[in-house]
Amino acid sequence: MSGNGVVILGGGMAGFGAAHALHSSGVRARLYDDRKQRGGHTSSYAFDDGFIFDDGPHISFTENKRFQELLAESVGGEFERIRAYVNNYWQGHWIKHPAHANLYGLPSDLIIKCVKELVETTQAPAPKIENYQDWLVAAYGPTFANTFPGEYTKKYHTTEAKNLTTDWLGPRLYRGDLEQVLRGALEPETPELHYIDKFRYPTHGGFVSYLDKFLPMADQFYEHRVTGIDMTSKTLTFANGAVTQFEKLISSIPLPALLPLIKGAPADIVEKAKKLAVTRTVIVNVGVRREDVSRAHWTYFYDADICFSRLSFPHLFSTNVAPAGCSAIQAEVYFSDKYRPLEGSHADWIEPVIRDLTRCGLLREGEEIIHKSSWATSGNVIFDHDRPAGLSDVHGYLNDIGVHYCGRYGDWGYMWTDESFESGERAAQRVLAG
Ligand SMILES: Cc1cc2nc3c(=O)[nH]c(=O)nc-3n(C[C@H](O)[C@H](O)[C@H](O)COP(=O)(O)OP(=O)(O)OC[C@H]3O[C@@H](n4cnc5c(N)ncnc54)[C@H](O)[C@@H]3O)c2cc1C
Repeated sequence: MSGNGVVILGGGMAGFGAAHALHSSGVRARLYDDRKQRGGHTSSYAFDDGFIFDDGPHISFTENKRFQELLAESVGGEFERIRAYVNNYWQGHWIKHPAHANLYGLPSDLIIKCVKELVETTQAPAPKIENYQDWLVAAYGPTFANTFPGEYTKKYHTTEAKNLTTDWLGPRLYRGDLEQVLRGALEPETPELHYIDKFRYPTHGGFVSYLDKFLPMADQFYEHRVTGIDMTSKTLTFANGAVTQFEKLISSIPLPALLPLIKGAPADIVEKAKKLAVTRTVIVNVGVRREDVSRAHWTYFYDADICFSRLSFPHLFSTNVAPAGCSAIQAEVYFSDKYRPLEGSHADWIEPVIRDLTRCGLLREGEEIIHKSSWATSGNVIFDHDRPAGLSDVHGYLNDIGVHYCGRYGDWGYMWTDESFESGERAAQRVLAG
């Protein structure tokens, strides 16, 4: 196969994973992306005022040694190693993460119910689990389930827990045993139990610097939004008027956007792809001239009347992403076309975010804000009950016509950067294997 015959759609972790695997086998691919710059969802944006914000908070917490080494080489060994401190905010209380094992300081009645129900759940016969709500109640008891993860689900996944399956959970939700829960209710200092207890982050340039090693491995074309894919004539057309041929196609474009682009794709498959639900994240960035805004690297927010689900504090990842003496705050507010459409513009969320930062005491009343920015970006696959059957039909069709899908939005999973990169590598290996 001539090298340039392989085309990769998408210049994020999966696209560069594919480029890396092809390059390792002597194949130079062409990579097309609709954004202005490399990185996809791991892009970083440098502002003239000295702040650098990622496309949503990105840290590397992989235990995959090969991937750790690839990223370390990419930044010439210049990365921060950080012990994570994560906390939660609920109705004026700041508690350590995971909340279930750190109830200390919450109202006594709430703690008593949480502990009592945990004991009852462990003694009850195993219930039938049909959805994420069932799982939450079986794991924690109804009070904790409904007060914390149940509320968080509505904000973060934009729908109720009963509308979700449980096949995405992995280590994401921590369930303390009785001793851990009692200790966490009685003592302010507890052992680290979160599945992300340490992480790495590039010293310079934001998270996207982790891709630098892979840039020479493919010819790249940015601001090239694919508008048509003809698998018979092997032709791609782009919004900017460009047209190109390919021999093999690897795609990390989100499936709901990909399927309508394919000439001759059956209408029922296109419809199934469009029904695959995903959140849309409004990112709001705020900068202030003081360093002590937060001790936590990130914080989860459970209250329905606080607009953001999570805040992160990038200046604690690397001091080089904010001007000296300043704090960077990044808020995530979640929407989805299917369950909670974003009305208006992402910029409409800047003032509500500042209001809620002030209400929970992170910003001081009237404090000077030295940076404000916002944008909307892709979020998380919503594991609703429509997903499994629709996904398998969509993937089956792509397999039949020879589109090698990969990445978070090609595989359509809850994948971290290392998993997306390796998914791209696997797609390339399938191409190489013919
Ligand atoms: C808020 C948030 C925080 C996260 N934090 C972490 C973290 O801390 N650590 C971690 O490991 N993982 C994190 N992740 C997951 C991580 O972002 C993904 O695993 C990874 O970036 C996905 O890479 P990808 O290449 O599969 O997709 P993408 O990076 O989305 O790449 C797909 C590319 O295709 C482009 N595209 C779409 N349509 C077209 C078109 N028609 N034509 C051309 N190009 C097109 C897109 O613009 C994009 O650049 C986070 C995810 C979210 C949502």
